[in-house]
Amino acid sequence: MIKKDRVFAEINLENLEYNIEQIKKIVAKNCKIMAVIKADAYGHGMVEVAQKLNSIGISNFAVATLDEAITLRKNKIFGNILILGYTDIKNIKYVEKYDLIQTIVDYEYAEKISKLKYNINAHIKINTGMNRIGESYKNISNIENIFKIKNIKVIGMYTHLSVSDSLKEDDVKFTKTQIDNFYSIAESLKKLGHNPGKIHIQSSYGLLNYNFLKCDFVRVGIIMYGIYEKKNSSIKLDLKNVLTLKAKVASVKEIDSGEAVSYGRTFIAKEKTKVATITIGYADGYPRNLSNKNVKVLINGKYGKIIGRICMDMLMVDVTGIDVKQGDIVTLIGKEEGICANKIASASKTISYELLSGLGKRVKKVYIGK
Ligand SMILES: *Cc1c(COP(=O)(O)O)cnc(C)c1O
Repeated sequence: MIKKDRVFAEINLENLEYNIEQIKKIVAKNCKIMAVIKADAYGHGMVEVAQKLNSIGISNFAVATLDEAITLRKNKIFGNILILGYTDIKNIKYVEKYDLIQTIVDYEYAEKISKLKYNINAHIKINTGMNRIGESYKNISNIENIFKIKNIKVIGMYTHLSVSDSLKEDDVKFTKTQIDNFYSIAESLKKLGHNPGKIHIQSSYGLLNYNFLKCDFVRVGIIMYGIYEKKNSSIKLDLKNVLTLKAKVASVKEIDSGEAVSYGRTFIAKEKTKVATITIGYADGYPRNLSNKNVKVLINGKYGKIIGRICMDMLMVDVTGIDVKQGDIVTLIGKEEGICANKIASASKTISYELLSGLGKRVKKVYIGK
C-alpha cells in the first residue's frame, strides 16, 4: 500500500500513551480504563490502537459491533471485549466462540438468548434516561429475571449518561438522578442476592465532570484520542492530539481579480490571488459544508484559507504571501488552535466524534511510536 502519496493521517501512539497516563491521574481508586475503540478507534485504526493499549497494560475494550470485536480477536488482542451495541440473535454463537461480552439491550433480548444453546458472558445495560438501549431502571423484576437466565452469565452492569458534558444546573441535576437510579438498582439487586459484577457509568465527560464515582470501569473514548471541549469540563486535562490529517499540494497558480474558483463560481477573487490545490476532498471525510467558511489549513507554518466549493477529491486554498510549491505537505487537522478537531468540527456544525470517525477509506494511516 502506498502510504504518503495523497492524503494520510499520522497517528501518534506515543501521544495515546501520554493521554492514558493523564487519564489515569483522575480515575478513581480501583477503577480501570475500558478503552472505547469502536468505529475504527474514532478513525485512528482500531487494531493498531488496541495493540498499543495492550502493550501498555490496558486489557479492557469496548466496541460497537460484533464485527469489530471479532476483528480484535483475530488480531490477537487480549483481554475483555465488550460489545456496546445490538448483536443479531442469529449471531450470538460468535459471542461464545470468540469469548466476547455482549450487552443485554433489554429483557426481550435476554429472553431470546435464553432459547439458544450458547453460553455467553454479558453486561446488562440499564436505561436511566438516555432512552437508547437498556432495560429500564424502573423494571427491577425484568432486570432480576435476566440474572436467572442460565446461559447468560451476567458479569457486569452499566448505564450511559446523556448530558454529562454539560455543566448547566439542570443537566447536572439530571445526570445525578441517572447516577442515583443506577446505583440504587445495583443495591436492590445485591439485596435480592444477585451480583451485578463490574459496574460502569462514565464515558469521557462523565469522567471529567464526575470523576469521584465508585465504579469498576470508565469507558473512555474521545479523551484517549486527546480531544475534549474545555468549556464542557470541570477537570482540565493536559492531552495531546493523536491524529494529524495531512494532504499534498497538487498545483499552485495565480489568478486575477474577478476570476472564480471551483464549482458554482462561489468564490471570486477580489485581487490577484495565489491558489493552491490540495489533495483532499469530501470523499476523504473532509466536510463539504466547510466550503467558503473561512476555514484554514496549515502550509509551511502559515495558515491559508479554503476558497470556493470543496470537491470530492480536491480543495483550493488561498496561499497568497505563503511560500508554497507542488508536493508540499498540508495539515488539515492537527494540534494547532486554528485547525484542531473541535474547531474544524464546529465550523462544520458537527462534533469531533463525527469528523474523525467519518474520515474516508482513502485516508491512509501512518503510525508513530508503534
Ligand atoms: C461511544 C461510547 C462511549 C465513549 O464515549 P466518549 O465520549 O468517546 O468517551 C462510552 N460508552 C458508550 C455506551 C458509548 O457508546
